[in-house]
Amino acid sequence: HAKAAGRNTFAVFGSHMEEVLRRRRVLETDLESALETRTQLAVHFQPVYSAKDGRMSSIEALCRWRHPTFGTISPDVFVPIAEECGLIQALGLYVMEEACSLLADVPDCGVGVSVNASAIELMSPGYSLRVLSILSKFGIHPSRLEIEITERMATDADGKAAAAIKALRDAGVRFAVDDFGKGTSSFGQLLNLDVDRIKIDKMFVDQLHHGGGLPLVEAIVQMARHKGLQTTAEGVETADQRETLTSLGCDSLQGFQLSKPLNRHDTMHLLSQHESRMNSARFSGDRSD
Ligand code: C2E
Ligand code: MG
Ligand code: MG
Ligand code: MG
Repeated sequence: HAKAAGRNTFAVFGSHMEEVLRRRRVLETDLESALETRTQLAVHFQPVYSAKDGRMSSIEALCRWRHPTFGTISPDVFVPIAEECGLIQALGLYVMEEACSLLADVPDCGVGVSVNASAIELMSPGYSLRVLSILSKFGIHPSRLEIEITERMATDADGKAAAAIKALRDAGVRFAVDDFGKGTSSFGQLLNLDVDRIKIDKMFVDQLHHGGGLPLVEAIVQMARHKGLQTTAEGVETADQRETLTSLGCDSLQGFQLSKPLNRHDTMHLLSQHESRMNSARFSGDRSD
């Protein structure tokens, strides 16, 4: 009996593995054509707000894929696939172009854009030149772009990512370490990076009021300030978290409590409202509302 059961389990497991692999190959092929036609892909933008005065300070570009049969697929699923099958450069370029063209389509209201980049992209030859040429194609000043990288690449020893980061920072592009604290590197290692901002991972924000996250966030903010780095808290979902993060001295806040990611149309609407509010503030003698 045990033997038969074992064999059956193996058979079931085998066909399950086959199914997983088959689906994976389908996704690779479909992602490749999605990148060619660009019809199933979209870029959404999540606003980031200044903690001090509540003003929108930037928007983060987040890629979306609506698959015709599987429905919406999370970037947590398709970005790793793109990395493994050589499509991440094309994906990164697509998102960078969407982000810059959005900024070019609205009046400059001082809002910048941040774009996530994977380690493989950053280490690929010519990355910095490609980014700078997209910026100039859309007439966007490099200082309006922030590139979000992960700890993994920020602490890599081989220097390829570091060279790209240096070239872009020299041109005025800013860098942030995303998901700060989630990985295995030490704070000391992380704080010696050549970046402008750290984004405090949602995990710490979740544990602010339950689970002892508060002293950790406090320490991160203090260390960042000591190094002259800006801080953004990710995944802010409650008014309590928002208040506590503001009182701890966090510079910017991002999360569903403030705004979910918006499609391109709604983002443009939000940015033009922002622009007209800034104008009326100027006309009324800079009184803020
Ligand atoms: P990330 O860069 O850390 O982006 C934050 C993620 O958290 C986004 O998920 C966002 O929608 C979600 N989020 C924001 N506020 C809240 C909140 O209050 N609560 C909760 N539960 N979630 C919140 P999303 O869009 O699914 O992206 C997941 C990850 O995929 C991103 O994490 C980023 O690492 C990666 N990704 C997304 N777009 C791109 C891209 O264009 N290129 C690359 N290389 N990676 C991307
Ligand atoms: Mg990010
Ligand atoms: Mg993050
Ligand atoms: Mg994340």
